[in-house]
Amino acid sequence: MPIYESHAIILKSFKLNEADRIVTFFTSRYGKIKAIAKGAIKPKGRYLGRLELFVHCNMIAFGKERMNLLRLNSCDIVNSFLPIRESFDALSHAFVAVELVNTVQKECDENREAYQLLLDALIAISAETDRNKLETLLRIFELKYISCMGYKPNLHSCVSCTGGLETGRLGFNAERGGVVCNSCNKSDPVSFLVSPGTVRLMERALSTPMDKASKLVAGGKVLSDLRKCVNKLIEMHVQYSMRSEFMLDLAKA
Ligand SMILES: [Zn+2]
Repeated sequence: MPIYESHAIILKSFKLNEADRIVTFFTSRYGKIKAIAKGAIKPKGRYLGRLELFVHCNMIAFGKERMNLLRLNSCDIVNSFLPIRESFDALSHAFVAVELVNTVQKECDENREAYQLLLDALIAISAETDRNKLETLLRIFELKYISCMGYKPNLHSCVSCTGGLETGRLGFNAERGGVVCNSCNKSDPVSFLVSPGTVRLMERALSTPMDKASKLVAGGKVLSDLRKCVNKLIEMHVQYSMRSEFMLDLAKA
């Protein structure tokens, strides 16, 4: 029976019955896989504290080829991201990131770039306490993640007329996949106004590695524009309603 051994991030973990858990791992080697952890509910069991959401671990599982539920053999913690668990702000932002990946990633579809992005995002979120910076990090992660999944927005020329973006008020049209120029924006019922600062931040975000993204800063207006652009892109391409976004609104309340 094949052995699956990989570093992984836990995307979901739920109680199956009085003894066992089903855990969804985003592994660096095999993509997203699910495994049953037998005896995981026991109070003094060997999986105690190891199968929680966000945990970065080294896991070993067994299963037949193409089986959609493996059997977990071991799970050793590399990083439990304790600071995320201890702060509601960090927790709510990390939750949105992990939920997006769990929704978008298909099972057994290896994607090391996406795996590393999520890992670097969790490391950055766990090191941050400022709420504005946490949201900036989350939006940058989302933008980079959907770009790496093939939905990179066009920020360099108008997505309607292919003309330049040098003058006037710019718009953003998620259906067309990017920025529209001043004149196209006026007659476009779908696009919404977006500040030049937001377009510049998106350009910088896409050219900055995730582990350096905490250096990028965004003011309130840029951040709200960025949230709108990224959410529209996600809704457009992923057919995903941001279920955990309510946690961010709760955190702001
Ligand atoms: Zn145009």
